[in-house]
This record gives sequence, C-alpha cells and structure tokens, in this order.
Amino acid sequence: MSRDPKCLFCKIVHGEIPSARVLETDRAVAILDINPVAKGHVLIIPRDHHAQVAELPDDLAAHVGSLVPRLTRAVVAATGADGSNTIINSGRVAGQTIFHCHWHVIPRFEDDPVRWPWPHDSYLGDEMGRTASLIQRELGGHADD
Ligand code: AMP
Ligand code: ZN
Repeated sequence: MSRDPKCLFCKIVHGEIPSARVLETDRAVAILDINPVAKGHVLIIPRDHHAQVAELPDDLAAHVGSLVPRLTRAVVAATGADGSNTIINSGRVAGQTIFHCHWHVIPRFEDDPVRWPWPHDSYLGDEMGRTASLIQRELGGHADD
C-alpha cells in the first residue's frame, strides 16, 4: 500500500487522525468534509496515496467511481438536498489543497450560496475539431478506436 508519511489523508485512512466515516471498503474510505460546502459534504478517499487523479491506476479510479451513485443517493436522502455535485479538484490552480486525490460529493439546495455553474467559453472556426485532435493524439488514437 502506497503511503506518504506527511499526508493528512493518509493519516485519516490509517485511523491516525479522527474522521466521521460514512463508508469503508478495502480500497477507499468516505468521510465527512470537516469544512463542508454544505452539511453532508462527503469526501471519497482512496486508501493508497496518489497525489492527483491523473496518477490513479484505472482499477482504483473505477472502484472509487463505483461508490459514487450509492453515496450520492445516501447524501441526498440524508440531507434532503435537491441535487449534488461530484467533483475532483486536480492541481492548485483547480482548488486542490490536499494532494492525496479524492472525490467530493456535495449536496446542493435550491437557492444555496454556491457559485455554480462556471462561466463557459465557446470555440471559434475549426478550434473545436483541432482541440479534439490534440486530445485524441495524446490518448494515442481516435475517439472510436
Ligand atoms: P481539495 O481542496 O479538493 O483538496 O479538498 C480538500 C478538502 O479536505 C477540503 O474541502 C477541506 O475542507 C477538507 N479537509 C481538510 N482537513 C480535513 C480533515 N481533517 N477532515 C476532513 N476533511 C478535511
Ligand atoms: Zn496520502
């Protein structure tokens, strides 16, 4: 099991720092966020230390992803929320503050003070196709491969 001795979330998943756990599996732990966007805000934390989502093994990401529907149903039912956001912040610029990859499940309420959605940009000319090609090249193929 990979672990960073200085990492807060490694200490939490190993039970060295207390947390309000709501779900545990052999590969992940779900806890309440200590400073929630809204009460009932859950963090799903893989037990293994990986700083960012891009570094996660596919099977671990798939396992954590498989917990999202059930946790979302539970959070929404328990809080009486009208909806939810599931998000991973990756990198300081994206708001990541704890560099042990985790998923947020945030209950949302009509007229809550959360500023969402983000502003949206648009593509000009063939920019959309060129951007898709650049990403496809990085992926090593085409979308329908
Ligand atoms: P992020 O900004 O995406 O890295 O998210 C880190 C989250 O961890 C923040 O929402 C914090 O409120 C939360 N957090 C920080 N310390 C703790 C802790 N000891 N227990 C539970 N959640 C925490
Ligand atoms: Zn860690």
